[in-house]
This record gives sequence, structure tokens and C-alpha cells, in this order.
Amino acid sequence: MAGAWVFAEVTPDGPHPAAFELLTHARSFDDDPTAIALGPGATAAAADLGANGAATVYASDDPVFAEHPGRPAAHVLAGLIEAEAPDVVLFAQTYDSRDVAGRLQGCIGSALMGNATSIADPRHARAEIFGGTKIVDVELAGPAPTLILLRPKSIAAEPTGGTARIVPLEAEVPEDERGARIVERHEEAASGPRLEDAKVVLAGGRGLGGPDAFAMLDELANEIGGAAVGASRAAVDAGWVPYSYQIGQTGKTVKPEVYLAAGISGALQHIVGMKGAKRIVAINKDADAPLLAMADLGVVGDLFQVLPALTEEIRRRKGS
Ligand SMILES: Cc1cc2nc3c(=O)[nH]c(=O)nc-3n(C[C@H](O)[C@H](O)[C@H](O)COP(=O)(O)OP(=O)(O)OC[C@H]3O[C@@H](n4cnc5c(N)ncnc54)[C@H](O)[C@@H]3O)c2cc1C
Repeated sequence: MAGAWVFAEVTPDGPHPAAFELLTHARSFDDDPTAIALGPGATAAAADLGANGAATVYASDDPVFAEHPGRPAAHVLAGLIEAEAPDVVLFAQTYDSRDVAGRLQGCIGSALMGNATSIADPRHARAEIFGGTKIVDVELAGPAPTLILLRPKSIAAEPTGGTARIVPLEAEVPEDERGARIVERHEEAASGPRLEDAKVVLAGGRGLGGPDAFAMLDELANEIGGAAVGASRAAVDAGWVPYSYQIGQTGKTVKPEVYLAAGISGALQHIVGMKGAKRIVAINKDADAPLLAMADLGVVGDLFQVLPALTEEIRRRKGS
């Protein structure tokens, strides 16, 4: 059995952390999964991929994969699949990997499943629907390999400390398989930890009433230290904060030690992105808000009074 393959996105800082989670998923049914790493830094990424359970890494450092979105990777993967016949290819549910998986599906005609949270074997995976209130076990039919997109943070990565065998890939991507060219990249200015990695997440919703009120969350995050600020979709759709802040079904999934929600009602589509938090604190002036019902600590009150008081109390206890 050629087994499980993991499409490992390569970033300037090494493999995307979701690749380590995918390898952990893959190892639940294949002891020796294979990772495919494409783009500058791919060969160097093999060490980290091996340390996270990849037995083999197919690597190409060709810049063509960084210069064009999706298409070259799908083209090369399709050729490799034809030659090696894996049973399943796992992708992280990120923008770039979704692009590659969708294009690959168009090339090879296999079943493609999105939004999976776990996988039992190449033909059986699980997803949560209706904002995480229903669990569906899905059986995938059709030709191998199946293609499965797994939600980041649906499993904790378990490093193995292993070493991968590196197989250099000669990427041949004809001009007509390159498509659009990436001409510019913009890094959104950010300070503090990434939302996905922060131990404390402070999220604001429509109840904040406008962009200026997010300064209260920034101030609180600053006092706590190591905290990141996020938002509900209502706040993002209103243009108060960028989309990169959005937590939920169509945003990011976070699993912090503490999740504090201010002025967020607790719609299912929001909850699905934060319900894995160890402790949930909710501030809402409506005692019937659904998020208060699932919170470990619920404060029924006006966030414009509670947040500054909380910041002040932290300052007082720190003696600053
Ligand atoms: C396909 C689909 C995908 C979606 N994906 C997402 C997603 O990824 N993430 C997401 O968040 N949503 C998502 N949504 C939207 C979701 O359904 C809700 O509309 C959204 O989460 C509501 O945001 P909110 O809680 O900030 O706003 P509201 O539901 O309007 O809640 C605002 C809350 O603030 C409280 N409040 C108001 N003033 C104060 C005050 N002064 N002090 C304290 N509390 C106050 C109110 O009592 C209320 O509970 C999605 C919807 C759909 C259909």
C-alpha cells in the first residue's frame, strides 16, 4: 500500500505548522506517511517534516511553486500520483492548500472532501456541520487517491523525532500549466503572538459598536502579555478589523488556554472556531446570550465598563 500522503505547504519560516498536524492524522492509519513539499525551502523543510513523522519527503525547491498559485503544484502532484498511486492525499484547510486540492481534483477526478476534522482511513473521514452541532461520518467513493482537506487545529501535532528520506523532485511545469503569476505579497502588520498560537485570545463582536472600541481589547492584551485580539464575523464584516481577526467557521480556529469574548452573542458559526478553548470567559449585557451559557465565567454587564475595569485590576495586581 502506497498509503497516506500529506501536502506540506512551505513558508519562508519552514513547513506550515498545519503540515505537522496532517502527519499526526496520517499516522493514525499509516506508520510511514509521505510528505510532498514544493517551493523554495522544501528540501530544508524535510528535517522538520521527518521530526513530525514523515518517513519520506518528496521535495522540490523550484521557485515556480512560489511564483504561481495552485496550478504548478496540482500539475506536479497529478503526475506523481499517477506514478506512485497513493491511497489518500491530505491537505490543510488553508487558502493555498484548498487551491491546490481543488485544482488537483479537476486533474484526476477523485473524490474531494473539505472541512474534515478527523480521518479513520483513506475512505472514511469525519466532519462537523451546522456549526459543529452535528457530526457526520463520510465514506468516500471513486478512484484513488481520495483528497481530504482537514481543518487546522482539529488535532494536536505529535512529533516523533524521526528522520525522513528525501526524494528530490524534478519539477517540470510547462508554461501553459503555470497560470496566474504572483506579482506582490503583502504582510499584514501585526504585533504580539499569532491568533492561532496565542495562549490568551480576546475577541470582540458587534457589541463593541465600532472599530475604536477594539483599542480596549488591545490595551487588555498588552497588560496580560502574550494575548492576541480576534473578532466575530459581524465585527469583520462591518470593516472594524481585518479579516485575519475572524474566528469561526469561515475564519480561524483557535484553541487557547483562555478565550475571552466581549459583545459576542455566540452564534454556532462563531462557536465552531473557539469551542476548543480550555476556559471561556464571556462578557455580554444580555443574560440570555448563548455564549454565556457555555462560558466557564460569564459576566452579565456592559463591556464598556467591564473591560476597562479588568485592565485596571490586572495593572493593579501587577503593580504597574
Ligand atoms: C455561512 C456562515 C458562516 C459564518 N461564519 C462565521 C464565522 O466564521 N465567525 C463568526 O463569528 N460568525 C460567522 N457567521 C455569522 C454568525 O452567524 C453571526 O452572525 C455572528 O457570529 C454574530 O457576531 P456577533 O456575536 O459579534 O454579533 P451579534 O450576534 O449581533 O451579537 C452581539 C452581542 O453583543 C452584545 N452586546 C451589545 N452591546 C453590548 C455591550 N455594551 N456590552 C456587552 N455586550 C453587548 C449583545 O447582547 C449581543 O449578544 C457566519 C454566518 C454564516 C451564515
